[in-house]
Amino acid sequence: MNRRSEPERIRLNRFLARAGLGSRRAVEALIRDGRVAVNGETSSELGRRVDPEADTVTVDGREVAWPERWRTFAFHKPVGVISSLRPQGRTPCLDLYAGRQDLPPGVVPVGRLDADTSGLLLWTDDGDLHQALCRPRSGVWKTYEVGLTAPLPVDAKPRLCDGDLVLDGRSCRPARLSSLDGGGRRWRLALQEGRNRQVRRMFRAVGVDVVKLHRSAVGSVTLGDLPAGAFRELEPDESRALAREAGLGER
Ligand code: URA
Repeated sequence: MNRRSEPERIRLNRFLARAGLGSRRAVEALIRDGRVAVNGETSSELGRRVDPEADTVTVDGREVAWPERWRTFAFHKPVGVISSLRPQGRTPCLDLYAGRQDLPPGVVPVGRLDADTSGLLLWTDDGDLHQALCRPRSGVWKTYEVGLTAPLPVDAKPRLCDGDLVLDGRSCRPARLSSLDGGGRRWRLALQEGRNRQVRRMFRAVGVDVVKLHRSAVGSVTLGDLPAGAFRELEPDESRALAREAGLGER
């Protein structure tokens, strides 16, 4: 069940990051700013050890929940939905879907997809997994199905796959590309990184535009036939495999 396998006492900064309160740097700022208390006493010591089961940790007076087990969900993001939790006028955003679910508190989306991209978006309350998957070079393969405005030029495949393309002044990591229609307009591209609008910009850089973009998998987790707008909780085996792929080892 992906149950906690922490040592009994862990550092306060790790406790907060693991509980989903933000990156290590963000939680360290909370501690330094005197916003964190352990058993009612303000603690500005980053390395203070706490027992997640016995100690009460609060941030700004609100108790930090330490879940019995971490939970990760797959969500099928529909096209047209903004990857934001804040309501933006009448624009459909992720809140709309999260609000309809019985999601446990603290479960947040892992990264983002463009409004015009559909597909798999993970949600989790596992702070370590969230951070590991969001690292620019997490190493976890993200697989996209791509529809193009025109057939891919013959010389484009090596440029897309060999790590030759430069975006924002940095080379892209080697990618995997396979045809879904015998070499025409439909392709499957897998990347080990996730820069802003990366897939669209990579294809644009080799001379074709993307008209349809759908993420079908993150690591070994696949969307399968989950309907658009629906959530499903990952099976324990899937969560464990994902954590391994993200470099978190056995848990
Ligand atoms: N690459 C893109 O261009 N858009 C996404 O939403 C994800 C990856």
